[in-house]
Amino acid sequence: MAAKYAGGCTHVHVTSAAEPIDNHECHCNVCKSVTGQHTTHVAFFNYGDVKVDHPEKIKRQPFNANNPAGPLELCTCADCGAALMLDDKHHRIRVAVPNIMGYDDAHFPKATYHAYWDVTKGYEKPHDGRPVYDSLQPSFVWPAGA
Ligand SMILES: [Zn+2]
Ligand SMILES: [Zn+2]
Repeated sequence: MAAKYAGGCTHVHVTSAAEPIDNHECHCNVCKSVTGQHTTHVAFFNYGDVKVDHPEKIKRQPFNANNPAGPLELCTCADCGAALMLDDKHHRIRVAVPNIMGYDDAHFPKATYHAYWDVTKGYEKPHDGRPVYDSLQPSFVWPAGA
């Protein structure tokens, strides 16, 4: 199948032939610290839908530096240091941050809601018409791991 989404760098190509299963604007503190962005557009794909052509070139580090045993790992290119994806040790999802991980951000579907906003953020609740949750959207179900 042809890739609908293509990210990564010139050394490691990350592709998906399927649509994301969740697509949100993340307000969590881990994303803020890793990306340096006020909010981070995050797309979850089913683990099996995302292909990597050169996994041997991936360097892995904990996504959450304060929780190194957590399930998500930030994958970067061993050759150029580019951020490639977040990988899940439980093989449930793989995660794209379109504007940082080499995707065609202008054509990536817009996030459908705001995640992890609450009053502790210290800034106004988003009011762009999209739903706002203090977690992932309540209807989100984690895929079974492998
Ligand atoms: Zn986040
Ligand atoms: Zn690279």
